[in-house]
Amino acid sequence: MILIDGKTTAKKVFDKIKTETENLEKKPAIAVIIVGNDPASKIYVNRKHKKAKEVGINSLVIEFDENISQEELESKINELNNDDSINAILVQLPLPKHLNTYRIIEKILPIKDVDGFHPENAGKINIGIEAYAAPCTPLGVMTLLDEYKINPEGKHAVIIGRSNIVSKPLASMLLSKNATVTICHSKTQNLKEIASTADILVVATGKANIVTSDYVKQGAVVIDVGISRDKDGKIHGDVDFDNVAEKTSYITPVPGGVGAMTIAMLMQNTLRLYKIQRGQK
Ligand code: NAP
Repeated sequence: MILIDGKTTAKKVFDKIKTETENLEKKPAIAVIIVGNDPASKIYVNRKHKKAKEVGINSLVIEFDENISQEELESKINELNNDDSINAILVQLPLPKHLNTYRIIEKILPIKDVDGFHPENAGKINIGIEAYAAPCTPLGVMTLLDEYKINPEGKHAVIIGRSNIVSKPLASMLLSKNATVTICHSKTQNLKEIASTADILVVATGKANIVTSDYVKQGAVVIDVGISRDKDGKIHGDVDFDNVAEKTSYITPVPGGVGAMTIAMLMQNTLRLYKIQRGQK
């Protein structure tokens, strides 16, 4: 079994970005909008802000009260769309319930949509052509597969989960690399039987340790996207790592696997949008 090391792979990405930005007179810039006081969202936004600075990307965090109206938020996005000093716009999700998330994401200019959630970028990924930016977590998974020379071509990839931010774009990306892709979800019958036919098994449910060793084919590649905390604050993946690992050819740990890649892909996307906007890509 080989452990897929997300931290080391992410560091390579950060180092490469830092080297590139060092030579730039005008630095790339990301604006991150956060609404309300969700503690987890605040932690994520702070991490993004800190990491951006470390790799030579300017970061602007815009905080709004939880009661902000749809119109006010959309108007801020319009302002950032028209601000040439901002290359990338991210709206930290989830948003409070009174806001229409889809409409807000739709307002971001696709060329500044660093999360790759805008329907234009999502559509491009779905039809297999290059988007301005692709969603960071699935992009992180694809980067890890590439780094470890795991070629999805001809393999049966099973993804457990069907979210718009992780699983659906990942399915399209794997399909573009010629995998045969099956998507499972909470209503899937015979989940264990399907999962155990996977050459590449990706789990993105947020349900701690639901994938036990009987879900896994001998020699499979197992990618654990899930992150959940128990009541003691300990982080768990969706895969019962201790029992599953020995059956796999490659496996990602939690933490230190896919999670470590997400911010790296965000920074990579920011630099990419900066270059596209300057006609360098
Ligand atoms: P999500 O929107 O909550 O989707 C979860 C999916 O899992 C749904 O499609 C759901 O099916 C399915 N599911 C739930 N329980 C299941 C079960 N028992 N059997 C089969 N399918 C089941 O989650 P997400 O945004 O994709 O995130 C998934 C996990 O990844 C979470 O733990 C999240 O924290 C983590 N995550 C990590 C990163 C990172 O940087 N590593 C980034 C994003 C997300 P239905 O559609 O039928 O409800």
